[in-house]
Amino acid sequence: MDKTFNLETLCVHGAYHAKDGEPQVMPLVQSTTYRFQDPQDVADLFDLKSLGSFYARIGSPTVDNFEKKMALLEGGTAAVATSSGQAATLITLLNLCQSGDHIISSAKIYGGTTNLFTVTLKKLGIQTTLIDPDCSLEEILASAQPTTKLIFAESLGNPALNVLDIEKFANAAKQLGVPLVVDNTIASSYLCQPIQHGANIVIHSTTKYCDGHATSVGGVIVDGGNFDWANGKFPEFTQPDESYHGTVYTRDFGNMAFATKARVQMLRDLGCTMSPMNAFLTNLGLETLHLRMRCHSENALKLAQHLEASPYVDWVNYPGLNSSPYNQLAQKYLPKGASGVLTFGVKGGREAGDRFIRNIDLTSLVVHVGDLRTSVLHPASTTHRQLSEQDQIKSGIRPELIRVSVGLENIDDIIKDFDQALQKACQ
Ligand SMILES: *Cc1c(COP(=O)(O)O)cnc(C)c1O
Repeated sequence: MDKTFNLETLCVHGAYHAKDGEPQVMPLVQSTTYRFQDPQDVADLFDLKSLGSFYARIGSPTVDNFEKKMALLEGGTAAVATSSGQAATLITLLNLCQSGDHIISSAKIYGGTTNLFTVTLKKLGIQTTLIDPDCSLEEILASAQPTTKLIFAESLGNPALNVLDIEKFANAAKQLGVPLVVDNTIASSYLCQPIQHGANIVIHSTTKYCDGHATSVGGVIVDGGNFDWANGKFPEFTQPDESYHGTVYTRDFGNMAFATKARVQMLRDLGCTMSPMNAFLTNLGLETLHLRMRCHSENALKLAQHLEASPYVDWVNYPGLNSSPYNQLAQKYLPKGASGVLTFGVKGGREAGDRFIRNIDLTSLVVHVGDLRTSVLHPASTTHRQLSEQDQIKSGIRPELIRVSVGLENIDDIIKDFDQALQKACQ
């Protein structure tokens, strides 16, 4: 598919193009394995001399098409789909770090990612320094160590909704000679293009807006193809991999070295592969990503403005609002809309917030974001409950904060539901 097509066209058509007599819809190939005649062909696949499907843990046609579409949407060179967003982050980290290494991460990130870094990766000997993403370039540089292997941040923080100054972070990463990894889940590929601003690797929990219909857990890693792995800090990329008969990733795979190594080492050894069925369903979601993200953003802005004017609401946080400290960054990095997530505090604090959630009707209480149905969540008692109150506040979560994932219903119906629940909560 032509990379110069606009994003909307890439969402609809992606990487799959039917030839004469072939299915118009990207087919679901539900097969774990692939048949060969010549043992040499299989040997070549094992030695990475040729690439193709042979066993679905490493790759299969439906997943392959989905990956190529994600690479096109992000402007990367290749992509690797994973069984979840968490697996995408884990594989990215383990593809770059080993015991004794260090990473720098924004503190305003998804709670599950904070746990992965500070609990599980710590047990494996990988240390994380959490920094305020609004700090200066000098402060980012000062948090580095000789063993630092990457900088990690979310383009639009979940649930703090801070907009990342991607160019500041890319600049810091460049000066340190390490890649910038951006989790673009909440912004989506349609609204934000981190690679254009200097990010080197982009990951998604495809469970959220990519799917958009709450059917499939999944993740993806996109290789920006724009990092120099031969700068001396990443010998695993430039020295022969004996587990693949001496393959040298930079020499043999050029600007797809990162994605190839992630696939053939990490999917091989860890096995957190996306299933063909989930790739098929998530691809259906991607076909309308552009329409959904426009509508999610429009509805969220209207709801944010309405809540800001409500007598029952203490504060509203949405980067698309003029009152947001992130509005300028949002105009730069999210020019088509600030996505569908907002947070707010009901007057009366945590208890009133609790009563609000008990009284919503059209809106659902779910542990999810990015679905086409409007939903709410109370992070302090759910997704971030493992963190201390102090660490919750560091990740941008006040005790009364309610996170709203604004859906695609008629905005008047959403507003009506919020108004009646707020009235009952504050009576
Ligand atoms: C949900 C989420 C994840 C984790 O993804 P899963 O698919 O649930 O494993 C990672 N990052 C962000 C920003 C998320 O919202």
